[in-house]
Amino acid sequence: MIESKFHTLYGRAPEITAFTPGRVNLLGEHTDYNGGLALPATIGLGIKIAISNRIDSSINISSSTFEGMVALKLDTTASQHWSDYALGAAIKANELALTSGGADILIESNLPHGAGLSSSAALTVGLLKIFRDKAASDITDTQIAQYAKQIENEFIGVPCGIMDQMVIANALSGHAMKLDTDNLEFEHIPLNPEFRMVVIHSGFYRQLSDGRYKIRKKECDEIKEIVNQNDICRMPLEKLEKLKLVDPTLFLRARHCITEHERTQQAAKALKDDNFVEFGQLMNESHQSMKNDFEITLLEIDNLVADAIKLGALGARQTGGGFGGCIVACVEADQVETWTAALLSNHPKAYYVC
Ligand code: ADP
Ligand code: MG
Repeated sequence: MIESKFHTLYGRAPEITAFTPGRVNLLGEHTDYNGGLALPATIGLGIKIAISNRIDSSINISSSTFEGMVALKLDTTASQHWSDYALGAAIKANELALTSGGADILIESNLPHGAGLSSSAALTVGLLKIFRDKAASDITDTQIAQYAKQIENEFIGVPCGIMDQMVIANALSGHAMKLDTDNLEFEHIPLNPEFRMVVIHSGFYRQLSDGRYKIRKKECDEIKEIVNQNDICRMPLEKLEKLKLVDPTLFLRARHCITEHERTQQAAKALKDDNFVEFGQLMNESHQSMKNDFEITLLEIDNLVADAIKLGALGARQTGGGFGGCIVACVEADQVETWTAALLSNHPKAYYVC
């Protein structure tokens, strides 16, 4: 029980405990910082946080996932340590006057981190919501998402988009979120329980804060400059042709953004129409685009995805920022068990997540 652990650690009961889910992105990868559509859904796994305010400026953070308790102050800066995200959220809550002073924080998680399931947003959104609710503030869930994104962009230094924070802050279980990252409008689409979006970890790990994600963001910023358009996912094809002459790599990156946005539009419609054959096909095309145009997959993950399809998934793709982590596959619900067993027996490093 998180309450009793908190008591053992900090010598008093927590004021609030809350659970925040992780998310899986079904389609629309690297579109969320390019003004395009994304189609994420929250999952059953997530992060539990217990917290009590302090009258001094100490921020004490413990986590079931990481060793040792960290004792920091509100004026500490990020130090490439696991505690950065929780610290960033506590500092942001003070900046927003949702709280004043330090906090004792305990984190318990069954969500793998660095796996493309957005443990970072689960943690920052979860903490900001706790501070908001304790303060009875009228800050909206979408504003919470925007502040959580600021923590990652400005405090941690990861130039991520807003998809993760939006779907987690506005979570509705059993639904996918069709999110327009250009204006933050969204629609919840019910997921048919006859099909499961199964998440399998490849066994290969990455960190979003590593350089490769930043390189893709930089390439997209270059495209924006050249075509003088921020929402490059909605770029007309004539502009795309121009990029081919300037830099063939930028042409490929832009083509991924444009085709991925279009696929996401079609996938949202396929979900509404209960057309899982088409949905699966779009997942497969998305993976190929991430592999060939955006170049963010690993050979081992390409093989895992190919096998997932061969063994009967309607579609499969890498999910999350890339270069490791999880795949998501659309599988008929009554076949999940046999499909998973067959896939894992071919891929000893991979494991079932949810
Ligand atoms: P992802 O969001 O895909 O899981 P990131 O690299 O964006 O991966 O975020 C992972 C970071 O979030 C961890 O390195 C850590 O700083 C923080 N984090 C995630 N889970 C926990 C946890 N259970 N306890 C403490 N910090 C966590
Ligand atoms: Mg993250």
